[in-house]
Amino acid sequence: MSRLPLLPAVLLAFSGCSTLPLESSRIPHPSSRESQAVQSPYREAVGVVHVHSTYSDGRLPIEEIAGIANAQQLDYLIITDHDTLAGKFEKKEGWYGQTLVLVGNEISTSGGHYLALRIDTEIPRLKDPAWTIEAVSAAGGLGFVAHPFWPRRHWKNLDARGMTGIEIYSAKEDVTEEPLLILGFWTILAGSELSFSRWIDRPDQHLAYWDRLLNEGRKVVGIGSPDAHGLRRFGLRLGPYSTMFKMVRTHLLLNEITEEAVYDALAKGRCFVAHDLVADAKGFQFLVAGKDKTILGVMGDELTWHPSLRLYAYLPSPGHAILLKDGRLLFERKGQQHWFEVDGPGVYRLEVTRKGKPWIYSNPIYVRPASVDNSSDPMVK
Ligand SMILES: [Zn+2]
Ligand SMILES: [Zn+2]
Repeated sequence: MSRLPLLPAVLLAFSGCSTLPLESSRIPHPSSRESQAVQSPYREAVGVVHVHSTYSDGRLPIEEIAGIANAQQLDYLIITDHDTLAGKFEKKEGWYGQTLVLVGNEISTSGGHYLALRIDTEIPRLKDPAWTIEAVSAAGGLGFVAHPFWPRRHWKNLDARGMTGIEIYSAKEDVTEEPLLILGFWTILAGSELSFSRWIDRPDQHLAYWDRLLNEGRKVVGIGSPDAHGLRRFGLRLGPYSTMFKMVRTHLLLNEITEEAVYDALAKGRCFVAHDLVADAKGFQFLVAGKDKTILGVMGDELTWHPSLRLYAYLPSPGHAILLKDGRLLFERKGQQHWFEVDGPGVYRLEVTRKGKPWIYSNPIYVRPASVDNSSDPMVK
């Protein structure tokens, strides 16, 4: 009987299994749209936000990163190098095969990192977080707090307001360099990138922060980011772009894939975050409709409460759906298609797990009290 070499044996013990029971991310979609009572009026664009290139500390130039995104059939990719828009100024934005590449930047503030998208000018670095938020807004940009709880660059002003949103999941925080070293060995030994999905955890701290902001009655958009750098250590591909791009994606709801539409979906929160490495999340829907099944809103939309409202959730494959209202658990259900009565005004969002692993985080549907004047209601055209 052959014996395992010492290093693989150690890694097997560490991983807790001798085989990889993880399912393929290419799962068919048994839930056909035809069987759904309510249909979304949008198409879905799957992509990745928060990636570094050789314009800062990433390993590959934008052209090569875009090639990886295109090979994965991503619809969009947003490059965010540290404190530079050089990629935009040097006209690297545009279509690379079927992938639309856009360039924002990651601003180093005096209290953490802030993603600035849809901007044409570089915002000064090392300014106060609140100043930076205001500067990005004044430039007409979208701003997202990056990796708010990463110990090395955590967001120091959790009371700051005015940002478009926050990263509700950051691979940077979930898979720090030390686990990456082990995962890098494991990936090489096991020959499977799916080993990364074992590391994905529910970002409790981020979600609590998000719920606290949402409970103040404002819209705060949640995005997920791989913060991909193409990390290598000791000659090992510890955080390959290709794997990081599957680890966490932000799926957008839009009508066509253009720069304007991508940023509009991010601005409005018409999006959800998914670990597509756990299972293909394309096709997930979270909608609100009347009892007559007339659609009234999707993720990110605001509407006025009425007793006839119902929430609909469609999963692309079976999972465990958890509905939260104002950050508190309302219902938990297994299966693929669900509907729920709307339990009064509140902020409703859905989390989905699959075989015990976090899988999908919806953006909220905002149901406002009838007494509040809301000129944007309903938002679905
Ligand atoms: Zn950062
Ligand atoms: Zn970054």
